[in-house]
Order: sequence, then structure tokens, then C-alpha cells
Amino acid sequence: MKIAVLPGDGIGIEIVAEAVKVLRALELPLELETALVGGAAYEVHGHPLPDSTLALAKTADAVLFGAVGDWKYDKLERGLRPEQAILGLRKHLGLFANFRPAICYEQLTQASSLKPELVAGLDILIIRELTGDIYFGQPRGRRVAVDGHFPGADEAFDTMRYSKPEIERIAHVAFQAARKRNKKLTSVDKANVLETFQLWKEVVSEVHAQYPDVSLEHMYVDNAAMQLVKAPKAFDVVVTGNMFGDILSDEAAMLTGSIGMLPSASLDKANKGLYEPSHGSAPDIAGLGLANPLATILSAAMMLRYSLAQAAAADRIESAVQAVLSAGLRTGDIWSAGTRKVGTREMGDAVVAALTQKTITKS
Ligand code: NAD
Repeated sequence: MKIAVLPGDGIGIEIVAEAVKVLRALELPLELETALVGGAAYEVHGHPLPDSTLALAKTADAVLFGAVGDWKYDKLERGLRPEQAILGLRKHLGLFANFRPAICYEQLTQASSLKPELVAGLDILIIRELTGDIYFGQPRGRRVAVDGHFPGADEAFDTMRYSKPEIERIAHVAFQAARKRNKKLTSVDKANVLETFQLWKEVVSEVHAQYPDVSLEHMYVDNAAMQLVKAPKAFDVVVTGNMFGDILSDEAAMLTGSIGMLPSASLDKANKGLYEPSHGSAPDIAGLGLANPLATILSAAMMLRYSLAQAAAADRIESAVQAVLSAGLRTGDIWSAGTRKVGTREMGDAVVAALTQKTITKS
């Protein structure tokens, strides 16, 4: 099983090192090959996604990705910015389904901004379509006011589009995921206002005919945003388009207490995927050993489950993370009084120790 390891920039380097440590501790036949991506690749190769990195990602069975980006690249032209590497990987690897589980660990209910009873036991899955919608619409651009035709300002536009096959493809993924959980799917749209999402709603309903054992509800995105903070446990699997998914998955992330806890997977039609934490490269804490590596470690567990058919190993990692949290170890982002503050490396070491069943020191 060959894994392309792409740490990227900022805390990506520190957190991926911990996930790699955990993967090695499993003693599985994993071949890990590391390459540069993002700003780190731009510095050496002049491009955030060099051909050699893309070739490695294409030949690997899965990609473990850290994070990319740094404020110092903000002035680069758009095509050379570190974040373009993610878009390039998604496009070239055909990754169209983004899975973002939002799980509130019992030990961390106090870290959520919502009341503990609203989030205790929360376990929802947001599935976001990744390759269509307004982020990839054509035409896009800017019109400059000429002779006062756009008084006072320039005018900019991006078009929203989805095709029927694109919606069918993500709907099948979502119904199949719901089937493996509580058989309940919520499709989020804005069909009352947008043609694109009227089509979305119709196509999701058509696909539903093939999954009669799964219950389907349609919800407008503004209502979904409200319900997520009002009664998040009423959801199980949520499927939506690229932009709504981008926003709702971040909202769901915060229900769980910290973005440092949340893994994600982006899958192609054969379940080959790219696995990464939901957060960015956190330049504000990069290199300080403060970052929470658990989102990346849990992303490695998702990789084992979805792309490498190693569910037992994934379970082992997830149990080890639970054990470490139960032992009271916390990085700064999830720390609360009465728990023990640890750094990135110590957290990774503790997960390895829990995997190999060594004792974790509580105080
Ligand atoms: P961010 O997610 O990097 O950081 C937001 C806040 O959360 C910061 O205060 C940070 O310190 C904290 N944080 C994030 N991850 C953490 C962790 N594991 N442990 C503890 N604290 C953590 O978002 P941002 O600051 O908006 O963006 C920083 C850079 O990351 C930008 O260049 C942005 O473009 C990039 N970015 C990359 C990705 C990606 O690689 N997939 C995603 C989002 C943002």
C-alpha cells in the first residue's frame, strides 16, 4: 500500500510527522513517500504542485496531506499560490466527494460553544460536492465601469452551475454513506431561489428511488445553518453543493469544539482519496510545537478505512485517540482546567503509546 505523504507548509509539517509516526506504529506493509507541495514546493520548483508531486499522488493508493499556505504568498499571482495545489490535486485525481465527519468526543463537550447537552454524542457526516458549483463556474470575471455605465464601482461575476451527472454522482455517494449509518439523508439546497439548486433537488429525488431504505429530506441552506446550531443531533448525513458545503462544514466543525480535531477525506469514484485535516496551515503557531495533530491522525484513520480497506487498523487509531483524551491530554486548542496541556509531539507520542498499549501519564 503506497501512500503519498504531502506535509505542505506551516503546521502541516509538524502534524503530518505525528500521523506518520502513528501509521508506522501499526506495523502494516505501508510504503510512505514524501514530496513537497504548496509554498514549500513553490520555493524549490517555482510551482505549488510540481509534476513530480502530482505523479507521486497519481501512482499512490492514497494521499496524506497536511496543509498549505502562508500569508507571505498572498501577493503571488493566483495560479502560483500554495492553495492552488489542493485545487490541482482535486482536479487531476478526480476527487469529487468531500467527507467531513463532525464528531463531538464525550471528553470534549465542554470545548464546544454550544450547551453540552446539544452536542454530547454528536456524530454527523457532511458530504460536500467538490468539483462544481460557483467555485468552478464559467463565465467568471470583472467588468470595469466604462463611461459611467457601472456607476461608482467595478462589477464582478461568477456563475453557479451543476450538471445532472455531477449531481447524480454525489447523490449516489451520499445515499450509500447514509445506508452504512442511520439511513437518514438531508439534501441541502436553495431551490426556492436558484435554478441550479432546483435541478439539484430534482436529481437527488430521482436518485432516491434507488435507495428506498434511506429516508430523504430536503432543506434550504439558510434553515440548515440554523438547525445545525439549534439541534445538530437531528442530522445524520448531509449532502450539499460545493459552496454551501464549504460553509456548513466549517459551522459543523465548530460544534465539536476545535477545528484541530476534524479529519476529512476527498474521494474519487473508486474510493481512492486525499486525506487531510479540515484546518489550514495556521501560520500563527507554525514551528512552535503547539498544533493539535489529532485531526491529521484521524485523517490517517479515515485513509485506512476508505482507501486501504484496513478498517481494523482505523478502529485502533480512533480508540487510541479516545484513550489519550480520556487520560486528560490536551493541546492548547482543546485545553480546559483540570486537563494536562501537551505539545504536538507529546500528543503524537501518546497516541502511539495508546496504540501499543503503554501507560499514558495523567498528570
Ligand atoms: P487555519 O485553519 O490555518 O487557522 C485558523 C485558526 O485555527 C488559527 O488561529 C490557528 O492557529 C488555529 N488552528 C488551526 N489548526 C490548528 C491545530 N491543528 N491546532 C491548533 N490550532 C489550530 O486558517 P487561516 O488562518 O484562515 O489560514 C491560514 C493559511 O492556511 C492560509 O494561507 C489559508 O489559505 C490556508 N488554508 C489551507 C487549507 C488547506 O491546506 N487545506 C485550508 C484552509 C486554509
